[in-house]
Amino acid sequence: MPTDADLRDELLDVCHRLHRAGMVAANDGNVSARCDDGHLLTSVTNVSKGAMTARHLVKVDLSGRVLEEGKRPSSELPMHLAIYRDRPDVRAVVHAHPPYATGFAAAGLALDKCVLPEIVMTLGSVPLADYGTPSTEEVPEAVVRWIGQADALLLSNHGAVTVGGTLMEAFYRMERIEHYAKICFVARQLGGERVLTPDEVEKIYRLRETANGNGRNPGCWSCNQFMADSCVADVCVNFAPGETFEEAVRRLVREALK
Ligand SMILES: [Zn+2]
Repeated sequence: MPTDADLRDELLDVCHRLHRAGMVAANDGNVSARCDDGHLLTSVTNVSKGAMTARHLVKVDLSGRVLEEGKRPSSELPMHLAIYRDRPDVRAVVHAHPPYATGFAAAGLALDKCVLPEIVMTLGSVPLADYGTPSTEEVPEAVVRWIGQADALLLSNHGAVTVGGTLMEAFYRMERIEHYAKICFVARQLGGERVLTPDEVEKIYRLRETANGNGRNPGCWSCNQFMADSCVADVCVNFAPGETFEEAVRRLVREALK
């Protein structure tokens, strides 16, 4: 387990990386991590992620109470708190406005089709959460709807949020969705992505099971889309975390027989 001092260093490193990568402008974005004592360490409000130093971090508890006097956390803290409450496995949350991924979010487009094998293997689906007025309860409410099934989300007309077991894992997921959004954007200039066939997707799922891939939502087995909502065949199976295809089928049969 990283110490508080390690977490502080890593959190600053992630803030600087977000800024260098052009994923935030001005004071945009916020980052947090779960400490060993159960509290959260997060970025303060109104400071550029590129200019963050040790004094720009603040400790809060899971109800959002500030534990370091005189410091004010980001106004998007309720979104972070809602994710930590919903996902005990999550130890870090990164929120940014990467331009390509945010472009998709502004156009009302999720990144939820099976296009690139490495995305299917590592991230699974990137759904689009409903729009919420920034810094209100609407944002956590929209995020909580999806975060049980996904490690990366687009926020309509706003940006993106990723989670991870470590700060670097959450950062790399942000980097990955931005890269993926860029590739999809280029593919659309060239006539559109070729979505993988169900056969091709099935082979990747098999590989993922043996490789113990870590995307949360393996998506639909029968069509080539991730989410039951967008299933063209209307026979999608939405998997529970860590569930194999066979386990999901058995669970659904049990539920149907109840
Ligand atoms: Zn934002």
